[in-house]
Amino acid sequence: MKIVPIVSGGMDSITMLYDLIQNGNIIETIVSFNYGQRHKKELEYAHRHAASLGIQHDVIDLHAAGLATILAQSGSSLTNPNEDVPEGHYAASNMAATVVPNRNMMMLAIAGSIAVATEADAVATAVHAGDHFIYPDCREDFIEAMDDAMELANEGFGSPEGTGVWAPYVNLSKAQIAGIAIDLGVPFEETWSCYKGGDMHCGKCGTCVERLEAIAAASKGRNVTDYDKTLYADNTYWRTVLEASN
Ligand SMILES: [Zn+2]
Repeated sequence: MKIVPIVSGGMDSITMLYDLIQNGNIIETIVSFNYGQRHKKELEYAHRHAASLGIQHDVIDLHAAGLATILAQSGSSLTNPNEDVPEGHYAASNMAATVVPNRNMMMLAIAGSIAVATEADAVATAVHAGDHFIYPDCREDFIEAMDDAMELANEGFGSPEGTGVWAPYVNLSKAQIAGIAIDLGVPFEETWSCYKGGDMHCGKCGTCVERLEAIAAASKGRNVTDYDKTLYADNTYWRTVLEASN
């Protein structure tokens, strides 16, 4: 299949990119979004992978399109610089502060235009089961509805079979994605997860905690540093958070 993946530069979407290629799909373009997130670091990682694979990298600048002002009002710590990025476990209720209103619908709709215009079979997004608790636009019901909407909106255009929305990891845990990354040899240190965007991963924000937990689980007792060469400002905090939440 010809696929247009949405690649943020994080661990999940970079793994999905290599997984799609490994499984024989045709990838001509990856799409990233600047929606006014605190830092653009992950976009640089997406760009490096695209360049090394010889794939086009389209960065859609929603920020320049005027969305930043609107999203800054949302109270989301990802787009409002006055809100602190919460630390701790991802499933905690304070992580609701990381919701960006309607983010996936926007991104899928825009990447869908690229997919239809290039007659691709689908847009792919790396949302996973661990996102379901907080983010409604990462749930299977939403993905199925967007898949239907994309086909209806573009009937007679795009791929002859219709251009849809595909979320190959929607029912996988982050640990399972980390396992795929290990099997494929995806370099974790060449992916960026941290919401804070410092010189190195902070190890304490929700997405850092989730990343460290997932890679440790996927390592199955093997030495984590054999797989994950990422530098973390704090690589023990995540364990104390998990112990506290159990
Ligand atoms: Zn972090």
